[in-house]
Amino acid sequence: MSKLYFTMLGIIDELVINVNNGEIAMSVVFVFLDGLGLAPAAATNPLAAAATAHLQAILGGPLTIEYIQDRPGLLLRPIDAALGVDGLPQSGTGHVALLAGVNAPALHGRHQPNFPPVALRPLLAERSIFRLADQAGHAVAFANAFSAGYWQALAARRLRRSASVIAAEGAGLRLRDMDDLRADRALSWDITRQAAHDRGEGAGLPLVAPELAGVHLAHLAHNHALVFFECFLPDLAGHGRMGAGAVPEVLARIDRLLGGLLVARRPADTILITSDHGNIEDDTTRGHTRNPVPLLVIGPGTPRFADVSRIDAVAPALLAALGDG
Ligand SMILES: [Zn+2]
Repeated sequence: MSKLYFTMLGIIDELVINVNNGEIAMSVVFVFLDGLGLAPAAATNPLAAAATAHLQAILGGPLTIEYIQDRPGLLLRPIDAALGVDGLPQSGTGHVALLAGVNAPALHGRHQPNFPPVALRPLLAERSIFRLADQAGHAVAFANAFSAGYWQALAARRLRRSASVIAAEGAGLRLRDMDDLRADRALSWDITRQAAHDRGEGAGLPLVAPELAGVHLAHLAHNHALVFFECFLPDLAGHGRMGAGAVPEVLARIDRLLGGLLVARRPADTILITSDHGNIEDDTTRGHTRNPVPLLVIGPGTPRFADVSRIDAVAPALLAALGDG
């Protein structure tokens, strides 16, 4: 038994003591992984061979199309990310499809990379899962922490607002910051917080094991009916932007995050994992793919997702799952 394991058990004890203290009984934790497709196990699919013990324990094998399944408490199915539009699916329109439940590439006329089309921003702000959940009376947490540097980059127009930030601002959500991260009330997009240290923004910020970040994510569900965390690691690694050898490490890091989340998750909570387009599942290309993406749902909310077959159908299913709570 590792020290980390006992540390996690201690934290979980603490969480259990806090239950019944006005907390939300059941929640949905949405882990959004950018650039992760669902494809057959093959020598060209890094997911087939990566160290993903937690995923394999749940699924009976790796996160590949051979392990699609639908049984009480566990659903894995491929869902379409191309949405009937030619070309490679991209994040700008894909994120709007996921967060607002609309066929964004069809509305825009094509798949748009990186940031949402300007014309779709009002729709995203007004119809996102964050806004609709909030209007239905559900507490929502956007788990990612944003540094001062992020807001400065927006102000200097070196960056544009991500779909998730537009959606969060449209819902009036509080965007978490580095103080939240230090207090373990937020997660870093890279899971371990190494990225903040690399940027020189890590003063007083301990690195965390991925499992512990997963525990922090599970903890947010105690006070929020919807918890959202987004992670761009698979897309960056799939594009080759993290250097040689990054792909297996990124997949293992995400698996360890999920391991911590699964250990600390309350039985009534539902975990939803999906993506906007394929990328990391095919190492023959450094670009996106037209592969389907995984819809992986763990917990009692699985029946609400049984008919979802496209990424623009995730949002309504998620809102229905919240309504059960
Ligand atoms: Zn990409």
